[in-house]
Amino acid sequence: MAGRDRIADPWGRRTPYGPGQSWATRVDQYLADGVTDSDVERWVQSASVLHSNGDAMDIAVAGGRVVGVRGRGGDRVNRGRLGPKDLFGWQANHSTDRLTAPLIRRGGRLVETDWDTAMDLIVARTHSLLAEQGPGALGFYTTGQLFLEEYYTLATLVHGGLSCPHLDGNTRLCTATSGEALKETFGSDGQPGSYADVDHADTIALYGHNVAETQTVLWARILDRLDGPEPPRLLVVDPRLTEVARRATVHLRPLPGTNVALFNALLQQVIAHDWVDVDFVAANTVGFEALAKTVAGYTSEVAERICGVPAADVEAAARLVGEAQRLLSTVLQGVYQSNQATLAAMQVNNLNLVRGMLGRPGCGILQMNGQPTAQNTRETGANGDLPGFRNWANDAHVADLARVWNVEPDAIPHAGPPTHALQMFRYAEEGSIRFLWVSGTNPAVSLPELRRVRSLLNQDRLFLVVQDIFRTETAELADVVLPAATWGEKTGTFTNADRTVHLSEKAVDPPGRARPDLDIFRDYASRLNLRDRDGNPLIHWGDPESAFEAWKAASAGRPCDYTGLSYQMLRGPSGIPWPVNAQHPHGCERLYTDGISFAAPHMCESYGKDPVTGAPTEPAQYRASNPQGKALLKGAEFVPPSEVPSEKFPYVLTTGRTLFHFHTRTKTARAPQLQAAAPAVWVEMSAADAAREQLQEGDLLEISSPRATVAARLRISGIRDGVLFLPFHYGYWDDPEHEPRAANELTITDWDPLSKQPMFKTAAAAVRLRTRDGQPCLAPTNTASAPVHPDPCPTAGGAGAHAQEVTP
Ligand code: SF4
Repeated sequence: MAGRDRIADPWGRRTPYGPGQSWATRVDQYLADGVTDSDVERWVQSASVLHSNGDAMDIAVAGGRVVGVRGRGGDRVNRGRLGPKDLFGWQANHSTDRLTAPLIRRGGRLVETDWDTAMDLIVARTHSLLAEQGPGALGFYTTGQLFLEEYYTLATLVHGGLSCPHLDGNTRLCTATSGEALKETFGSDGQPGSYADVDHADTIALYGHNVAETQTVLWARILDRLDGPEPPRLLVVDPRLTEVARRATVHLRPLPGTNVALFNALLQQVIAHDWVDVDFVAANTVGFEALAKTVAGYTSEVAERICGVPAADVEAAARLVGEAQRLLSTVLQGVYQSNQATLAAMQVNNLNLVRGMLGRPGCGILQMNGQPTAQNTRETGANGDLPGFRNWANDAHVADLARVWNVEPDAIPHAGPPTHALQMFRYAEEGSIRFLWVSGTNPAVSLPELRRVRSLLNQDRLFLVVQDIFRTETAELADVVLPAATWGEKTGTFTNADRTVHLSEKAVDPPGRARPDLDIFRDYASRLNLRDRDGNPLIHWGDPESAFEAWKAASAGRPCDYTGLSYQMLRGPSGIPWPVNAQHPHGCERLYTDGISFAAPHMCESYGKDPVTGAPTEPAQYRASNPQGKALLKGAEFVPPSEVPSEKFPYVLTTGRTLFHFHTRTKTARAPQLQAAAPAVWVEMSAADAAREQLQEGDLLEISSPRATVAARLRISGIRDGVLFLPFHYGYWDDPEHEPRAANELTITDWDPLSKQPMFKTAAAAVRLRTRDGQPCLAPTNTASAPVHPDPCPTAGGAGAHAQEVTP
């Protein structure tokens, strides 16, 4: 097929534009080999579930199968563009190793069974543990990849039906810091900015956000601005030489774990140079004087000493931020998965606030998400918080939720902060949680310190239920495995990182006896006979649309108000950003256009936490310090990470992702073009470090931390000296040798005190040559893992990766 190789060029053809102009449409399409447009019987509306950008697309169906995808040209998020994972990832649906029947463990082996047997086993164990130990014996660990309707059902049954406090998502690993930083600054979760801010910004600051690989279509939008008239200036903070950094006006490469010192220094410079919007600060914030005092000592020289960034570069970066007229700031895992994560993300909020860069076109903050539906995990309470961004410490909010669910307020656990995922796994390790239901995620590869995780999941006393579409590394340890339907096989909605809600419709049937997650949760609630206080079924909805209507009622009057939305509206040309209600009948491009709206004491989702220890602030203290509900400018001192390099482990190891894979590769490794682009794990090291260690590109290395050793081939890349990088996607399901290679064998069990997000960016590590056999390192060459010396075989997909790009 004619077209462009979208593995070789992940971002596609440029459509340059200038500030204030609208971004052109470019409709990308990929159909399976041999399929033409005329073969497609139906196009079914959907959006991407392989990243958080929310690219709207249609699914091509022929002969009862998905045969391709094309972008939706009218959608506000992508204007028709698709990234490589969107174009090729759907092929995983057809894998012959999909789970098609429930499995139960018999005689140490997983054997096929029917749904009744599997569900009865789960229900029987639930009942016996409730009788023996109460709801604290149960734990539910979900994902950022299901649909809103499914999360809301799960949160209702766990919190409202079982009165169980142990519910969280793998979004804890991914975007917990995003929500927490927004709560700390704005009193409530809810993304202030919009992707449309890219169209207007004169300065874009990306903090630990490799947007070129994590949200390829958003990067295409930025690239189109960069190649158009009056391009924005870019500030990039990243220890790696990413594609974003290659285009930067200023690129800062701090030592991992030192973000707070660096961001404090940026604030110090902005304040010292009088770049503060005094009127905006006075009208919209509290805490400026204390913040100014906290950061006063963080001169550029201090930042240079702590972060290893030249003082002149810190000053240049501060000038970019300080002189911007329209500043868009974005944040992702380089901040969220690092030391003092929430405090650092809050300082980015603070930079925009002190500059008055909020609520106007081009002036936004995007505390990005990682997973496609992470936003919904947070909105619905499937992350342990209460649905609708209600405040667990506010009795009126708990009572209001009890009214929605028609249960007693005391039935809803709210005596203390929600149990976070790592605490849940610790409870399982210690034996108080004896039933763990894992849906749509793979902790045996994605959690830190894997030897420990495998051993706790493998305990006889733990009853492990895994609900997934493949036999993952976690499923292999389960007592019961439930086969789930996936994207394209079920209907539901989800919300991207700029609050845009999309509808994804069922296009084809799931394989075998696999069922939608919504049906599985409803079945569980029904078999448990969960009822409200009038004796009616607690889960009173049936299909996805009625679940959505139930959620709308729960969201009424809250920041994430969906009451004005309907499936019918979402079947229109574009997704719609919340809130959608009487005040915003067509959705809301950006929050806080008219002052800070959700931080008032009666409204806020959180009364805040101590920025260093994470101890909750008392309600009375919050009311006294912020009676009018303004944004909170909170700061604190830099504290080094708990594990720092030593003589034995002289490097800082960071883990991360590549453009071509998602999460633990369960889907992307089954899409041939994506797997071929990044087929094997690698480790990155700088040229100076490699020379000092006498190592060569392609050498097979052993990488060790105080916890374990893995093997990977060396890629000499543009990474900062003293830092190693391992992609975390590679587990063991497709590795017959079971050679230790998962990056999380090495990572540390430690988390941010506010968001409880684990630290994947700061482990101490050492390297050693295992073999020099002349084999190449197969890491992608067109991303941050590009080699410093030109590669004779650059990453390309060939004819099988050609997609059409149509511009009207
Ligand atoms: S790969 Fe990382 S950022 Fe992406 S969804 Fe998974 S945890 Fe989140």
